[in-house]
Amino acid sequence: MRKQNTSKWIETGKSLALNPDEKVPCPDCEKYYLIVKDVYSEIDVYKFERIISCETCFARNIILMKIKS
Ligand SMILES: [Zn+2]
Repeated sequence: MRKQNTSKWIETGKSLALNPDEKVPCPDCEKYYLIVKDVYSEIDVYKFERIISCETCFARNIILMKIKS
């Protein structure tokens, strides 16, 4: 298993939670920008998952987001 740079991933998650359009380099390979995808649930309308992934090294992190009303 690939060793993940946890503190960098936490920082990355924080900035992409606030601004999903921000170009953030992958904390693992540090070569390519991360891809952000929001996945909405039909069951829980108050939350959605923000999936952050790198197409190059396949690093992946999911943030659970609250939908502001
Ligand atoms: Zn990567």
